Amino acid sequence: MLHTPLERIETQKTACMLTANLLILVAVLLPPSALDLLGEVVDERTYLTPYGEAGPVALRKLNEDLAVWVQPYTGLPTRTDPRATIFAARQLGVERILNWDMGIAINPVLQRGQPVLVADYISWINHQADTFFGDAHTGLDINLGSVRQPFCPEMGAAVQQLLPGIPEAVCVGVDFLRRETRAEARMFRGWGADVLSYNLAPEVALAQEMRLCYAGLVTVSGYAADRVQHEPMGEVRASLSTTVEMLPSFVEMVAQPRRCACSS
Ligand SMILES: [Zn+2]
Repeated sequence: MLHTPLERIETQKTACMLTANLLILVAVLLPPSALDLLGEVVDERTYLTPYGEAGPVALRKLNEDLAVWVQPYTGLPTRTDPRATIFAARQLGVERILNWDMGIAINPVLQRGQPVLVADYISWINHQADTFFGDAHTGLDINLGSVRQPFCPEMGAAVQQLLPGIPEAVCVGVDFLRRETRAEARMFRGWGADVLSYNLAPEVALAQEMRLCYAGLVTVSGYAADRVQHEPMGEVRASLSTTVEMLPSFVEMVAQPRRCACSS
């Protein structure tokens, strides 16, 4: 599928023969040692793709057979071209991506610290790099013939099993580098959005083009501009810690061979 080989520009540790079919894009703020429960870092890479650099992405060894790729992710001005991230993931042999982001509660029912599983999304982005179609580096042809499920049902089921009661949400993905206005917040709510995220789109669409499974997990970190801004009470930190603790089980559950339709 990929016509242009990747140039690997940095390797810090020796690669080893482990199964690693999952990449976790970590767009939440965690204490430096929080991810150690996914195992020690056994490989770390930065890739130069046709769309710029991607990484560093670290391979963490969960046990003798299983590892997981972990990449810090940000929607700040230094943001990597989303195509570079997904292109590099494909080249790493990754089949599945979990995007864990912090988001703004557009739905007034949602409280700070609440994790939500993204079930559908609205793309409100201005990025020109939102597709691999018609791209000489991928050779992908556009196909508007079928409506596809954007989020992997198997990964979603694993999240729901590990975080019982987690609500499903519609996410509006934005790429502007500011907070939403009050008028935008009301508009997004009118469209049916529950949360706003800076790191979900266009990555989910790019992953779908590459036939990768994709799941979006958003931890609510603040309230929309048209709502009362309550003082933080540590609820985000507590929620992030609960979610981190389920990650090793999640890695094991989604390491099974894919039976979903995402790859077809
Ligand atoms: Zn899938």
